[in-house]
Amino acid sequence: EDALAKEQFLVYLQPKYRIKDENLVGAEALVRWIHPELGFQPPDKFIPLFEKNGFITKLDQYVWDKTCALIKEWDDRGFTPISVSVNVSRADIYNADLADILIKIINKYGLAPSRLHLEITESAYTENPKQIIDTVTHLRELGFIIEMDDFGSGYSSYNVLLKTQVDIIKLDRMFFQKQLTEKYAKMLNYTILALKEMDLKILAEGVETKEYVDFLKSAGCDYVQGFYYYKPMPLDEFQQLIDKQAEVQTA
Ligand code: C2E
Ligand code: CA
Ligand code: CA
Repeated sequence: EDALAKEQFLVYLQPKYRIKDENLVGAEALVRWIHPELGFQPPDKFIPLFEKNGFITKLDQYVWDKTCALIKEWDDRGFTPISVSVNVSRADIYNADLADILIKIINKYGLAPSRLHLEITESAYTENPKQIIDTVTHLRELGFIIEMDDFGSGYSSYNVLLKTQVDIIKLDRMFFQKQLTEKYAKMLNYTILALKEMDLKILAEGVETKEYVDFLKSAGCDYVQGFYYYKPMPLDEFQQLIDKQAEVQTA
């Protein structure tokens, strides 16, 4: 609580690119903790703990608010509108006020809900299917865009899709850490094809090589996010990036 009040948590942004024209079309907000004694802390170190002690709900709301404030700031500066995704922890799903909290933040900055994408990890869908289906359905009705995070990392990915309607599938990064053999390329191709048949947009996450970017383009994947383009970066660096894109577009 003290760290939150002292603004020790920072929002980093990792760009998302549309693969067909390689335009920056969005970003994912990822939190970092600049600890006064321990220094820079990656989320893997503290998120699991905050999910256990319940603090994650507060931290997430802080990140959502900061993110909406940024979107509004860029809009005011006349940038091409982009959407930003935030992570919604499984703990947030159990909060009966989740939709109200999100709507309040959106309204505070006068944004359309579709500008804020909500990432919910695949495994959350299997833990409490009824609650999550109801929540996701409601959030979609309100206009939020739902991204299913870490798709393919669990055991029942397709089963989950049968029960829930989402907008974007984020293919888990483990898919792109393997060597792209002929057989594996076929498997990925059919996976992407199957998801497209279900009217889903597909984002590949954790893409590090040109080989995979080229492959994903030919396979019909929609978006890419990964170190091949950029690592998550502090705000000022991200701002420079969209500044540059605005220059290119007006040139
Ligand atoms: P995630 O939601 O799956 O986020 C993507 C992670 O993949 C990020 O790690 C990002 O830095 C990493 N990544 C992106 N591209 C590449 C790549 O090309 N190669 C590799 N090896 N990694 C890549 P990060 O930022 O350390 O975040 C880790 C996890 O912490 C996130 O996984 C998410 O589950 C959680 N997290 C981060 N920020 C928040 C937050 O604000 N709220 C909640 N609830 N969870 C968060
Ligand atoms: Ca995520
Ligand atoms: Ca992910």
